[in-house]
Amino acid sequence: MKTRLFVSFWLIGILITNAQIFDKKYFNEVLDTLTSNSFAGRGYVEDGMNKAGDYLQNEFKKNGLKSFSDNYAQSFTFPINIIKNATLKIDGKELKYGTDFIVKPSSRSVSESKLAFYTLNTKEYLESFQSKEKTKNFIIKDDKLQKAKNIILPPLATDVDSIKKYYKQWANIYEKNEPENRAIFRFTSDKLTSSLSQRQSTISEFIISDKYYSKNMKMNDFSIKTELNPSFLAKNIIGYLDGKNNDSVVVISAHYDHLGKVGTTIFPGASDNASGTAMLMSLIKYYSENKPEYKTVFMAFAGEEAGILGADYYVNHPLFDLKQIKFLVNLDIMGAGDQGIQVVNGKIFQKKYNDLVKINSKNNYLKEVKIRGESCNSDHCPFYMKGVPSFFIYTLGGK
Ligand SMILES: [Zn+2]
Repeated sequence: MKTRLFVSFWLIGILITNAQIFDKKYFNEVLDTLTSNSFAGRGYVEDGMNKAGDYLQNEFKKNGLKSFSDNYAQSFTFPINIIKNATLKIDGKELKYGTDFIVKPSSRSVSESKLAFYTLNTKEYLESFQSKEKTKNFIIKDDKLQKAKNIILPPLATDVDSIKKYYKQWANIYEKNEPENRAIFRFTSDKLTSSLSQRQSTISEFIISDKYYSKNMKMNDFSIKTELNPSFLAKNIIGYLDGKNNDSVVVISAHYDHLGKVGTTIFPGASDNASGTAMLMSLIKYYSENKPEYKTVFMAFAGEEAGILGADYYVNHPLFDLKQIKFLVNLDIMGAGDQGIQVVNGKIFQKKYNDLVKINSKNNYLKEVKIRGESCNSDHCPFYMKGVPSFFIYTLGGK
């Protein structure tokens, strides 16, 4: 009981802006460094991710962390399709990557070609959902018309979520059809959210804000440059501090990688997850000056945005027995927290969650400590799947 309360108190200690515990200056220093241009969005170009890893190693060392081998790095490799550059002009206007358009992460290289354009008829597409017959006819017609052409998928005017979702995947059906190096231009009112792919497709897709769509637009100046790296070398950065009791281990984790840079557009990833990494470093600083109750291992993971790859590698190559881990707390997106925090796995480890709520209401740290069930959406997941008790905490509210 005492133990549980202590661990929980320590969790809340992470999140409060108590000057004694939380060194805001150091937090900002780490945040500013990780989001600086020289780290190129901590991704796959200009060695951004590995430069960030080197910086963290140095900070681990400065704060006196011990390591499991002669350094803090745990290297691993994975395939990644790197979008190096993408350009697009519509009616002579150059669109900006990241805000006006993005490309599907599995895209292959493509450049302006002599291929004709085919525009999908969205009216017929929507009508095709009315009957099986109409669906069949539409698919046959579309398949015939799209052959060996660049494809325009206009914005879709519907409120039906399932149809919207289906439309997003529509481009996939063209993938196996054509050997030509062609492009799809899909217009959408959705927020443009970049991600990463570990494979390269046979087709390239531009995803464009619908405000650039018009019936007679001219789109003859476009390019995507990608490179599939079959074994990108990344590293988890791992160190620890001895506690007053070293039989059990507490782990705090955060991923430090982000999406990187496409052309001149940098994705700095301040929220996701320079903030969590800065929180991790702030805790390291605090506990290096105030001996923790338990041996505490700090893990900064790489490759999260490509599919939680760093944490996944770790649990299959652990540096000590996973059974020793009393509890793991993963931090991914540590914003202002003015609306409180969300606790993923709170419903699974209900007693620990209840302790958090109790301590919070007693001390009035946060507006709310919200509960969620399990969700495989960050680095805690591979640990949880291996039976390690864990929370994933993120803040709610402002940036
Ligand atoms: Zn994240």
